Amino acid sequence: MPRRPSDDLYVRYMRAYQASARHTADCTACQTDELCAAGAPLHERFARLQDAYRTRQAQRNR
Ligand SMILES: [Zn+2]
Repeated sequence: MPRRPSDDLYVRYMRAYQASARHTADCTACQTDELCAAGAPLHERFARLQDAYRTRQAQRNR
């Protein structure tokens, strides 16, 4: 997969991933899939951006 530093969606996707992963590292609730109030929006945002990114990649590779 080509890495494009100027790719805004990719950058947001990676930041959301980092925020989500960083939170999970310190949160025992989110580690067991019982998402806490603080973590839920972070994981939700990551899932949404991951979806958008993968959809776009699939469209590009057609
Ligand atoms: Zn949490």
